[in-house]
Amino acid sequence: MSYPIDLRSDTITKPTPAMRRAMAEAEVGDDVLGDDPTVKRLEALAAERLGKEAGLFVPSGTMGNLVCLLTHCGRGDEVILGDQAHCYIYEQGGASALGGIHPRPLPNRPDGTLDLEAIEAAIRPDDPHQPRTRLIALENTHNRCGGAVLPVAYMRRVGELARRHRLKVHLDGARIFNAAVALGVDVKELVADCDSVSFCLSKGLAAPVGSVVVSSADFIREARRARKVLGGGMRQAGVIAAAGIVALTEMVDRLAEDHANARRLAEGIAELPGIVLDPATVQTNIVIFELHHPRLSPQALAKALWERGVWLFAIGGRRLRAVTNYHVTAADIERAVAVFAEVLR
Ligand SMILES: *Cc1c(COP(=O)(O)O)cnc(C)c1O
Repeated sequence: MSYPIDLRSDTITKPTPAMRRAMAEAEVGDDVLGDDPTVKRLEALAAERLGKEAGLFVPSGTMGNLVCLLTHCGRGDEVILGDQAHCYIYEQGGASALGGIHPRPLPNRPDGTLDLEAIEAAIRPDDPHQPRTRLIALENTHNRCGGAVLPVAYMRRVGELARRHRLKVHLDGARIFNAAVALGVDVKELVADCDSVSFCLSKGLAAPVGSVVVSSADFIREARRARKVLGGGMRQAGVIAAAGIVALTEMVDRLAEDHANARRLAEGIAELPGIVLDPATVQTNIVIFELHHPRLSPQALAKALWERGVWLFAIGGRRLRAVTNYHVTAADIERAVAVFAEVLR
């Protein structure tokens, strides 16, 4: 068992022994000059896994999204996205701050989707008074919607809608492998309708650093320029890319364990006093629930759990979030449920 049981995020994961070995032995070169064979190998592997022509290694998911938005949109262009989207809420408004890109938020439904009719209605007419709609941005799995999975059929319908209106689709696929594993589909199928995808190596896949953007070869050429102007050109980055290769080849299938643990946690705490949670809504590794307790605020619960070695975050309002990950075992989940019960009763 681990102590503490750290459910704050899957970003807390540390590199596996296989990653550490790969990092120590990585062949490297100056990647800004195109000389790092390990980075090239990771980029090619990522592109192949997601069924796209090319990949680009970036330092973070935030930069992955930003590079894509800057490449799809010019100043004054508009992106349609969810009002709960990570790139709307948690990325400092980088697309507008640095790219002059106008966000058009639509309400995310609890399942992480945007209503197709609402998307269509939000597309701007050809009118000099208005910004130009260029892009639809989706998120799969959806973080603020409790790790909700957007299914293949929905992704396909958004793609069709976008093509009909000559728009592009960007996917914030920070946890796209969680979605593919939960659905039991090839990730290629899930992102087939997306023009660009950014996914994280450093979350459930447990690599220490980095995300990869995949798209067409032409798009990646432009995205590489955007990465450079943001300061994301990294020199002997093969040292970290090596861990990313291990993440992609060895760490995907085991995400199912995180999902089972999250479901077990949800089932174990759902009936406890004050907790409002439907375990059936927990599809992947994120458990979001509300607390309506006579004695404890969400912050007080988080503190009481923390003092007993169970770490998670209160995320505003009455909500708390627990995220299962590589370092959390099934036995840890049993222990966490017991600690919840002790604190809430
Ligand atoms: C974590 C996350 C990101 C950004 O990742 P960083 O590497 O922390 O910048 C983007 N989108 C979603 C949905 C995320 O969960």
